[in-house]
Amino acid sequence: MRFLGGYPPDVLAQVRALIDADRLGEHIARRYPDRHTIQTDRALYDYTSEIKQEYLRSAPPLHKVRYDARLDTAQHALGLHTAISRVQGGKLKAKKEIRVASLFKEAPPEFLRMIVVHELAHLKETDHDKAFYRLCEYMEPRYHQLEFDTRLFLAWREMEKRGGA
Ligand SMILES: [Zn+2]
Repeated sequence: MRFLGGYPPDVLAQVRALIDADRLGEHIARRYPDRHTIQTDRALYDYTSEIKQEYLRSAPPLHKVRYDARLDTAQHALGLHTAISRVQGGKLKAKKEIRVASLFKEAPPEFLRMIVVHELAHLKETDHDKAFYRLCEYMEPRYHQLEFDTRLFLAWREMEKRGGA
């Protein structure tokens, strides 16, 4: 199943059962009924900066935070982080930029928070290793559950687009 590689077989079997019963969308909607108002790049920047200010004050400053519709293709929706290197005054400076797939505008607030926390953690940790996930959990204690549910949400969206499982 796309997006869900690496999860235990019994978990995947439950997901498969929901898909087969055509109940995955309902399952997600029932658990995550809310939507958020963070619809502009400006709002996303403020939202991200607030979390950074609270948990990652010492991380390098953020230059840009924005939604990017090009990331909506599924394989990019999760876990894209960008450090753009630019030469400034003869010095190479890494500009920290966070881009979030614009599909998250229509996602539950919990999933937006998950992806922002993920990208913020990349300011300090490059790889998806233990230290990285510890940082994610520090910022959002429900991180692992939310990442899994975000993957479910992405898988469900793809199936909807294709017109059914
Ligand atoms: Zn990542």
